[in-house]
Amino acid sequence: MRFAKLLCPVTLTCGVIVAAGMVAFVSADPPAYAASCANRHALGTSRTLVIDPTEHVRLGSMQYRETLPLAPREVVLTFDDGPLPPYSTRILDVLAAECVKATYFLVGRMAKNFPHVVARIAAEGHTIGTHSQTHPFTFHRMTVAHARHEVEGGIASVSAALGGRAPAPFFRIPGLLRASPVESYLASRNLMAWSADIPSDDWRRINDKEIVRRTLARLDAQGKGMVLMHDIKPGTALALPTLLRELKARGYRIVHVVPASRYRTKTATAASQWRVRSAYHEPRVAAKRAGRMAKARGRSRASTRTLASRNAMLKRRHAAGQRATARVAVINEENDPDAVKSFQESSKFFSGLLGLPRQILH
Ligand SMILES: [Zn+2]
Repeated sequence: MRFAKLLCPVTLTCGVIVAAGMVAFVSADPPAYAASCANRHALGTSRTLVIDPTEHVRLGSMQYRETLPLAPREVVLTFDDGPLPPYSTRILDVLAAECVKATYFLVGRMAKNFPHVVARIAAEGHTIGTHSQTHPFTFHRMTVAHARHEVEGGIASVSAALGGRAPAPFFRIPGLLRASPVESYLASRNLMAWSADIPSDDWRRINDKEIVRRTLARLDAQGKGMVLMHDIKPGTALALPTLLRELKARGYRIVHVVPASRYRTKTATAASQWRVRSAYHEPRVAAKRAGRMAKARGRSRASTRTLASRNAMLKRRHAAGQRATARVAVINEENDPDAVKSFQESSKFFSGLLGLPRQILH
């Protein structure tokens, strides 16, 4: 309990930490956030969703057939790549002021460098998943042995920063560069692969206003979803207060996701609530299937089709669907080489910062 003491400036937090020590994973029990929030104008956290990673192994409509079983206007906030002060700590301040609970996907080497920030994320009741040890952009082409090394290394580093407690069994593949062998490995470890529903574009060269605008436009188009952000980005730290204010003004509610355990029963849901229903997913799968068939017949047109023409084709197919535009934008994120390059730049950015003396960062 010495670790718990370190993390427990107030009794309420201590209760959460001690409870978290008793259960297997790091995330808060579901207290009444709204009732305990000091700021009565806060956005707050409307409910806690307890999920069983062994039942739903892949999540996120950007890439998969299933996503979180959210009701209309429900939003889950996720932050990747940290921790990196001062951005991560500013974001924690904003979340605390608004009594909002989020899900973090921490990078092992970042956790190793800033264990006190990892401890703070846990102490403030957010869910902590992992995002590999070194954030390589090669998960789509690396061997399973290499992937295992990255995945397990990340979990070990985050766990060490948490005083030996296991993070939640949630994993997000760096750059969302998915591949079936890696996903199978994650599933064999009962680690849930998290993609996302709503990209915030905070890794692109856009300012905080544009981050807010794009995120809200996509949310309004889809009506709900899991938002992908990065707590290592200055723009994200700047955008977050406005984004949370706007979410409240537009009637969105924040959902906190935690893993089920022996001590915490999963929230009752129907299988149909997990299914991605939008007009986007099925045509995209059909387009992929058509591409494979064309290839099998020796016609390689589909496989050499440019991203632009593929998206144009999908756009036509979605013309009847009201959410087509936002969804096609999502496809761009997944395949766009610029997005990968931008991720790589951000990776270099934080690697560089890690070489600086710590006081510069605090
Ligand atoms: Zn990342």
